[in-house]
Amino acid sequence: MIGTLPPVGEVPARMLAQVVRQSRFGDPRTAFQIEEIDTPKPGRKEVLIAVMAAGVNFNNVWAARGVPVDVIAQRQRAGHPQDFHVGGSDASGIVYAVGDGVSHVKVGEKVIVHPGWWDPEDPWVKSGRDAMIGPSARIWGYDANFNYGSFSQFCLAQEHQVLPKAEHLTWEEAAASTLVGCTAYRMLSGWAGNELKEGDVVLIWGGSGGLGSQAIQLVRQGGGIPVAVVSSAERGEYCKSLGAVGWIDRRDYKHWGMPPHWDDAEGQKQWLSEARRFGKAIWDAVGKRQNPAIVFEHPGEQTVPTSMFVCEEGGMVVICAGTSGYSAVVDVRYLWTRQKRFQGSHGTNDQQAIAYNNLVREGKIDPCVGRVIPFEQLPQAHWEMGEGLIPPGNTVALVGAPEPGLGRGS
Ligand code: NAP
Repeated sequence: MIGTLPPVGEVPARMLAQVVRQSRFGDPRTAFQIEEIDTPKPGRKEVLIAVMAAGVNFNNVWAARGVPVDVIAQRQRAGHPQDFHVGGSDASGIVYAVGDGVSHVKVGEKVIVHPGWWDPEDPWVKSGRDAMIGPSARIWGYDANFNYGSFSQFCLAQEHQVLPKAEHLTWEEAAASTLVGCTAYRMLSGWAGNELKEGDVVLIWGGSGGLGSQAIQLVRQGGGIPVAVVSSAERGEYCKSLGAVGWIDRRDYKHWGMPPHWDDAEGQKQWLSEARRFGKAIWDAVGKRQNPAIVFEHPGEQTVPTSMFVCEEGGMVVICAGTSGYSAVVDVRYLWTRQKRFQGSHGTNDQQAIAYNNLVREGKIDPCVGRVIPFEQLPQAHWEMGEGLIPPGNTVALVGAPEPGLGRGS
């Protein structure tokens, strides 16, 4: 039963999970359904965790819709026969079993899981390079070649993904922010030459969302000056409570999406005037004429042209998603003459995940739980997220935890 657990180390043969099937792809409210499935067994260097709480991320909106990637078909092409998907890329829980070769993680430990997944035999990974760039790198609980994410009573992770849970956090707090926090950490510090520096202005799209709420805090921690973009005053004030120096309401501007073609002089004039007005709003928030050294991008098509325009000379627009569409256009004049950088970023490697988790364990980063929901409401929560209706912060579902507020201590 959801909300209960067998004694530590006793693994039941079957478990309940929120399952997505190809025949149900589309609206997350119907794509996910609770089913009873076999409990997986940990293989070599794998860890089986009883999930206490599971964080909601945008990636399983995509998984439920079946776009842009059919994760089940992709997994099957890679030789994994199962015809269903159990998502969920954020977990807090208790280790119930370990596979051969696991040496750092023990049964009974309270843990969280980071989402960087790769084939340990991948020659790229074995060579010691950034594992998240290797050809086998995937996101656990989304497109990993591996099916048991946190939307189930037991999840399966690779040993290197399993990190100690912050002792001062409840189960739901500990499950809230690892995916978005590690991703934000990599975006802000992982790209040599454009790492966050003290005094840098950082423009953060979707400041009150999962990624944005973590990015604001990480920029503050690094001595930077975060400016948030939001779509309501309530969200803006939430960003300020996390450390943003100011916020901009994107509803006050009309130039989103693809700018007019460069030889459309009148269209370009109007676009530039709106983009400059937006740039001035950044200066007003900062209190001086300083452009962002880093623009923290994920909306994509609607915002990339503006991000590239307002970024300072030699600065970086770093992007990890295209929530509003993928056909983002860059006016290359601004890219080359001002020598800006447009950098893709995805997931996390172990070092970045450990560094982020340590900030959480030291109490320096708030996981920003927006709300806690029962396991049964995961489909509805994903639908709301896809429609932009989710409240500020991170949404977390209780799985093994019978009620909120439990799990503190070692
Ligand atoms: P979220 O909690 O839903 O927040 C996204 C925020 O983006 C919203 O709060 C919204 O804020 C803003 N937004 C939505 N549409 C926009 C538009 N057209 N223009 C400007 N802003 C817009 O989602 P999240 O967890 O932060 O994730 C955001 C995206 O990043 C998703 O597509 C997700 O899949 C992706 N992601 C990728 C990785 C990776 O490793 N590659 C990791 C994490 C997340 P306002 O309405 O207040 O502006």
